[in-house]
Amino acid sequence: MSYQLYPPFTIGVDLGGTNTAFAIVDSVGHIVAKDSIPTVTPTVSEWVDHLATAISQLITENRLEGKIEGIGIGAPCANAITGCIEAATDLPWPSPIPLANMMEARLNLKTVITNDANAAAIGEMTYGAAAGMKNFIVLTLGTGVGSGIVCDGHLLSGTRGFAGELGHVTFPFASDRPCACGRKGCLQTVASAKGIRATTIRFLAEMDDPSELRDIPEETRTPKDVQDAAMRGDRIAQRIYHFTGRCLGKAAAEFAAMTDPEAIILFGGVSKAGNLLLEPMREAFAEASLHLYRDRVRFLTSALSDADAAILGAASLPVRL
Ligand SMILES: [Zn+2]
Repeated sequence: MSYQLYPPFTIGVDLGGTNTAFAIVDSVGHIVAKDSIPTVTPTVSEWVDHLATAISQLITENRLEGKIEGIGIGAPCANAITGCIEAATDLPWPSPIPLANMMEARLNLKTVITNDANAAAIGEMTYGAAAGMKNFIVLTLGTGVGSGIVCDGHLLSGTRGFAGELGHVTFPFASDRPCACGRKGCLQTVASAKGIRATTIRFLAEMDDPSELRDIPEETRTPKDVQDAAMRGDRIAQRIYHFTGRCLGKAAAEFAAMTDPEAIILFGGVSKAGNLLLEPMREAFAEASLHLYRDRVRFLTSALSDADAAILGAASLPVRL
């Protein structure tokens, strides 16, 4: 290890549909050691057993027995209030899963769970772009759109832990788009990977301009393909991100009126487009927002390193929640 480590240490776990990544993290966000196990086991008990064994092993290998403060787990549909994963369609086991209790019973370490977007918000506040901020919103732009809202220094959780479903706030700009939640017009139908795919199909049909995107089969086309094409000057690809960024800016103008944030931070795969999204987002926000918020909200992308962002977010939970 070439740098100094700062105790106390925590364990961060990123539970994904196929793979579970975990790491020992120090108090300033250094990853001491990391490993992963497959998520696909017949029962959730077997997965918890595998994870507990693998975490114990990592702690022993790094001679940190007795020095771990707690475990944080970021997982789809995880509820920090109940400690349960509720109705997660991306996981192979039936819900609800009393995950916090199951882990605590096996490792005798305080375990805190929350959904991926809240973990990202806490991670940004502890180690990333929101360090030192007390009011900000993280929008996670991935397969879906999630959000974590920090207001007056606290993560908003709501009565049952479901506060901050900004991906399912509906807008006129998406009113023709059906969402996985059963409604129409959710922000998620535009600003997620699936939303960008849908916009690509529509723009390619509506515009006659030549585009390298026409050579990529529809089913294999990804937001990254659109981003790469836009960077190379492809006009249609640029318009796709311009449209997506403007939609995000209009949505941000409404969100700003709720919590008066200092910054709105984009996180996740789609946010890698950076300025392709941020510039139209700022422009639309300036046009649409109430004058009170104009020129007052910063638009940023995550400052956490790609591979480790989810783990770092989870690792910060035991000290923050
Ligand atoms: Zn929806």
